[in-house]
Amino acid sequence: MRVLVVEDETSLADGIRRGLEAEGYAVDVVGDGAEALWMATEYPYGAVVLDVMLPGMDGFAVCAALRAREVWTPVLVLTARDGERDEARALDTGADDFLAKPFSFVVLTARLRALLRRGADRRPTVLAAGDLRLDPGARRVWRGDTEVELTARETSLLEFLLRRQGEAVTKKSVLDHVWDDRFEGDPNIVEVYVRRLRNKLDRPFRREAITTIRGVGYRLEVDGG
Ligand code: CA
Repeated sequence: MRVLVVEDETSLADGIRRGLEAEGYAVDVVGDGAEALWMATEYPYGAVVLDVMLPGMDGFAVCAALRAREVWTPVLVLTARDGERDEARALDTGADDFLAKPFSFVVLTARLRALLRRGADRRPTVLAAGDLRLDPGARRVWRGDTEVELTARETSLLEFLLRRQGEAVTKKSVLDHVWDDRFEGDPNIVEVYVRRLRNKLDRPFRREAITTIRGVGYRLEVDGG
């Protein structure tokens, strides 16, 4: 079983690698979030052990981006000691389990075995970018604890942006995915709907999750960049 370990502290990463290899796992180690995201998207790991504090993109952002890309590999997040907020946040961003540092290796391997048994077939029910959450099944949306009412089309647009969070999306790709391909109206309809989403999800909460990229389109960012 192949496991991806994401940890920038070299000695800890080496320790985890040696320990897991001794248990019979094949282990890849990376030290930064962007590389972790690429590796975990590209290769079919049995599980990912993901540290929170990483250079560049932190563990929460990596986890949220994986789920947004519909990668459901089980993720075990390594949090700071007494990091209750981290633990809650890890689960909110789609992690399956967490373990506070410093941890015992016996507990790490036991948790990992449990995750591997469970497998990647359970989809998290909620898409999230920071405290912006969407339940695709129930078609419900929240900013923090506040539920926000969106129309069906607005919800579909938000879902599209959340599934591609961190990426630039063109107006054309929005039209292709959110409107049906027989749509022959004014493509500026996308602008109208983006404005509506901002007015409902960003402005009242003083956020700017959806940014305009001049000449390209839009990007939704974790925590509202
Ligand atoms: Ca770290």
